[in-house]
Amino acid sequence: MTIRTRFAPSPTGYLHVGGARTALFSWLYARKHGGQFILRIEDTDLERSTAESVDAILEGMTWLGLEYDEGPFYQTRRFDRYKEVITKLLEQGDAYHCYCSKQELEDMREQQRANKNKPRYDGRCRHATTPKEGVEPIIRFKNPTEGSVLVRDVVKGNVEFQNSELDDLVIARADGSPTYNLTVVVDDLDMALTHVIRGDDHLNNTPRQVNIFKALGADVPVFGHLPMILGDDGARLSKRHGAVSVMSYRDEGYLPEALLNYLVRLGWSHGDQELFTIDEMITLFDLTDVNKSAAAFNTDKLIWINQHYIKTSTPEHIARHLSWHMGQLDIDPTTGPELSKVVALQQERAKTLVEMAANSHYFYKDVEEYDAKAAKKNLTVVTSHILEDMYGRLAALPEWLAEPIHAHIKECSLDRGVGMGKVAQPIRVAVTGNTISPPLDSTLELLGSERTLAAIRSAIVWIKDQDLD
Ligand code: GLU
Repeated sequence: MTIRTRFAPSPTGYLHVGGARTALFSWLYARKHGGQFILRIEDTDLERSTAESVDAILEGMTWLGLEYDEGPFYQTRRFDRYKEVITKLLEQGDAYHCYCSKQELEDMREQQRANKNKPRYDGRCRHATTPKEGVEPIIRFKNPTEGSVLVRDVVKGNVEFQNSELDDLVIARADGSPTYNLTVVVDDLDMALTHVIRGDDHLNNTPRQVNIFKALGADVPVFGHLPMILGDDGARLSKRHGAVSVMSYRDEGYLPEALLNYLVRLGWSHGDQELFTIDEMITLFDLTDVNKSAAAFNTDKLIWINQHYIKTSTPEHIARHLSWHMGQLDIDPTTGPELSKVVALQQERAKTLVEMAANSHYFYKDVEEYDAKAAKKNLTVVTSHILEDMYGRLAALPEWLAEPIHAHIKECSLDRGVGMGKVAQPIRVAVTGNTISPPLDSTLELLGSERTLAAIRSAIVWIKDQDLD
């Protein structure tokens, strides 16, 4: 049997963390078993679905690298097929027209509540379906009234639902459009899905769907309902908790593999291992190891994982992602040293790519403004002499390499009888605008002699200008 899984988002917003986790688990399960992963856009709710949201979902999937083998399928393009199945259910007596008016349904529920019963459709149109003049009927599925439905769920275990608890659900609205529970079953069936992996907010729909599968004479897929995700504060994860859209994690400087690694641990574990490469996830993941109970989001852990990936990935890989962030800062990374070389210098010291980009601008753009505090301390009349001295020494360097640069800084400090910091810090402020950077010698080597000397010259001029004011 080939394993076939799917991710079936409704395009009513961006791809959020919960959806991405569902997509990841479905994807992993298919990859682990050499199966297929399908993307299906459930866009039948015409009022709430938008094209922007479809784009946002596709963009999120691409950024995360969750490539699908089939799709994206769009439910709105499959209305004829749903109609066909609804007709079949009507013909075989498993569905019926219901002419109850809104008022009638309202009165029914009112009565049930008054009798302290659970409000549910009482099936009054099941047998007597006399058309009512001027009323477009809806269509209901004839749910079995007796017995129970056993949902085989790899995560939750077997869950039994009594049919007496389920009423005859609407499968087509008065305008003929199919409803969620019908379209999901038709698609899961037509797309030959073996495993339905989704959030546990859908668990209550499952027995209804199982009954429709059975009425269609189909095999029921295996289900895996994933526990919900809570925020740091224990409440259900929502926009309130900050960045919930997958793309906002890119914007905030996370690497996609860091987010995936973080997501895989939301509800799944393998011993106490926290870090997983994608290959490890594929090998080790199993639905049977998914927790039954809710998972909690922990921003600190995500940052820690991101930092790990920034430290340990190849500079070339990080550079590909960093390049986008440089663009966001209006920096063209082709106008200076190779970006991967900048990454190699910076990767030990950045938690996010946003931080790395912000701390790397001086490799590509002249410093426009010195940090006030840094300048006050380091760009003074006294240090301008040191800068002049170093300008001369560096300009005379036959080879622009970190080692001789370092040697000259040291020599200058010895000659002038000051600590090395007194020489290095003014240069650092001159070339970076601030007091923090990777080791100065390597920074200057990468920056190149021309840029370094020009920056030192500008700082000397700046000091003079300040002195005149
Ligand atoms: N479209 C549904 C949603 O976005 C998911 C349906 C399913 O996975 O069965 O919540």
